[in-house]
Amino acid sequence: MGSAAPSVVTIYLSLVEDYDREEYLRAGGEEPSPRSKVLIRFESRPPDEAGFYMPDDGELPRIFVYRSGFAEDPLHRAIDVARAATDPLGELIALSHELGHHELVLRGHGTGIFDRDRPIESYTEEAGAWFLARELLAKRGFVDWTEFDRRAEHSLKTYEEGLGLASDVTGAIRERSKALLTAAG
Ligand SMILES: [Zn+2]
Repeated sequence: MGSAAPSVVTIYLSLVEDYDREEYLRAGGEEPSPRSKVLIRFESRPPDEAGFYMPDDGELPRIFVYRSGFAEDPLHRAIDVARAATDPLGELIALSHELGHHELVLRGHGTGIFDRDRPIESYTEEAGAWFLARELLAKRGFVDWTEFDRRAEHSLKTYEEGLGLASDVTGAIRERSKALLTAAG
């Protein structure tokens, strides 16, 4: 009996189960929910965006996963929507990145707020969120690293250009972020 890698869908659903506040409450979890829990919501996709993280701003932290053509449904249960994904790999990578932002905030390494006027800090959080996304997925036996890297590099390149940063600057930021988060554990 070999041990096959868990499927993308299995990993996707396990992340939703572990982090979604609704699943926590359904399983009998009590209020207030632990800080690790987030509201995971689906929305129809705007062009060029896969997801969005909104830190705790007096309400609960929220993650939006964007899906093209998702019909507006305020009562949707995230895990059921995730289970029905036609692009589970793309959505899993998007969710893991937004959870990376969430983990940065939880660990005191970020604000979760993108600020164009603070390009170094903003890029640092993007790089850190991808680093922690990798960690979250690796722990769960994820194997589709080619696609993960393609999407991460594309996203980071878009931020590099949008923030007007030189590639040697972003390279140094990425190395520093990785060293910091590796040391912090
Ligand atoms: Zn991001």
